[in-house]
Amino acid sequence: MENCIFCKIINGDIPCYKIYEDDLVVAFLDINPISNGHTLIVPKQHFQDLYDIDNNVLNHILEIAKKIAKQITAKLNCDGFTLVQNNGAVQEVKHFHLHIHPYYKNSEIMKVEDCFKILNI
Ligand code: 5GP
Ligand code: ZN
Repeated sequence: MENCIFCKIINGDIPCYKIYEDDLVVAFLDINPISNGHTLIVPKQHFQDLYDIDNNVLNHILEIAKKIAKQITAKLNCDGFTLVQNNGAVQEVKHFHLHIHPYYKNSEIMKVEDCFKILNI
């Protein structure tokens, strides 16, 4: 899709801190994180939202969310996490994505680059 920022990231036209990739999805760190390790899981195919996305791809994204959340928990020591998926007026980027919002009882926000280094060790 033209003018879709996530399609541009997937095509490599815009850089990102990519922490996971397979045939169907990429996962990268949010550029404006609400907490350390805030991750977006994004299908490679452009689907707009929950109504639009293929069910097999959606199920795959949930499986990958399990794996990535486990890694974030192990490497960044978060105390919990929340999955968020916005649609309609509350969706800023109109290419389906699932947020992983790690939760910490105590932590200071780190640079995205530093989180990336820890997650990729
Ligand atoms: P939503 O569409 O669910 O409201 O949120 C979109 C999310 O994408 C926001 O958390 C925002 O910070 C993130 N975002 C927007 N543009 C970029 C970008 O160019 N790179 C990355 N890594 N994240 C982005
Ligand atoms: Zn797109």
